[in-house]
Amino acid sequence: MKLFETIREMGHEQVFFCHDKESDMRAIIALHDTSLGPAMGATRLWPYAREEDALRDVLRLSRGMTYKAACANIPVGGGKAVIIGNPENKTDGLLKAYGRFVDSLKGRFITGQDVNISSEDVRKIRQETSYVVGGAEKAGGPVFTTALGVFLGIKAAVEFRLPQKELHELKVTVQGIGNVGKNLCKQLHEYGIRIFVSDLKSENTEEVKHLYGATIVEPKEIYSLDVDVFAPCALGGILNSSTIPLIKAPIIAGAANNQLENEHIHSRLLESKEILYCPDYVINAGGLINVYNEMIGSDEENTLKQLNNIYHSLLDIFRRAKKEGITTHEAAKHLAEERIMRAKNSCLLSASAFRTSASQY
Ligand code: NAD
Repeated sequence: MKLFETIREMGHEQVFFCHDKESDMRAIIALHDTSLGPAMGATRLWPYAREEDALRDVLRLSRGMTYKAACANIPVGGGKAVIIGNPENKTDGLLKAYGRFVDSLKGRFITGQDVNISSEDVRKIRQETSYVVGGAEKAGGPVFTTALGVFLGIKAAVEFRLPQKELHELKVTVQGIGNVGKNLCKQLHEYGIRIFVSDLKSENTEEVKHLYGATIVEPKEIYSLDVDVFAPCALGGILNSSTIPLIKAPIIAGAANNQLENEHIHSRLLESKEILYCPDYVINAGGLINVYNEMIGSDEENTLKQLNNIYHSLLDIFRRAKKEGITTHEAAKHLAEERIMRAKNSCLLSASAFRTSASQY
């Protein structure tokens, strides 16, 4: 990979390669854009086969965080960190060494939990830095707020695409009944919505069948069900040239990150099938909103209020996509870029006002 060419194209500000001799901790921290505020993004620990894979992941995920924060209208930038290693070899020394690197950025990067980083690990990282959030479980915790954000996104999409339908008349499929999927099923059930679920683990689907009367379907069947909404809450890359032709739902609205296998090709393919796609980083911003509010010490009421930004941003995106004849993926990107540009311009304006007033002394 040509590093400078790649980060120029993707718009990154800084990428840090961190190594600790004692623990052999190897991490990459990427700050994508800090125009809106300090870069926020969780830390993932993964046994990447190649260093290049780790770099690709951290660059893509940090850029996604910039767009996520901008669309959610919260004043933070986009960042992400990956630690390269086997989760089984995670030691206190490694986590603490990582914490010291985070601390050395003096608040330009604020992190939290992602894959293979537990609340206990966050506590260890916190021994070395205060620039780490998570574990407070305010407003129901990030999983609850992510699911609530997805529910609000479904509401916005239904109002836009199926205005004649009441919520209780809907049929929704949920792919992946993990932390978020389960919470989403609970919320759908509270509105009397019929739920269809699939998961590779039968105990997960059995639980929501028992609790919320969900109908269990085979993982392969989930795409082709005749329902109103398909909610991907499992893996990324599941919207691709093999699955999209099977999808009958007129709306895709789910929590999974990086749902489009190829953003350009597959967002257009969905558009050509008149399927309304809720861009993943807009609809799944509930977790980020939760940890941001934990960071600023704001109350639960404020967190829940901010979650409504997901509903409003999605409606803006749908209207803009329709008016401009572009995909919802493109419209979301434009919305985020405009908000970032406005922040940059207002910084330039205040800097020039400062220079003018300073020159009078
Ligand atoms: P999780 O690991 O708890 O749940 C994922 C579930 O998907 C598991 O039960 C797994 O068995 C199932 N699954 C995997 N492959 C499947 C397949 N092919 N078909 C059906 N089920 C399958 O994860 P989670 O925390 O619930 O997150 C779900 C998704 O949402 C992930 O993509 C995650 O990145 C994204 N997300 C989560 C949060 C959060 O707050 N947890 C926030 C934003 C985005």
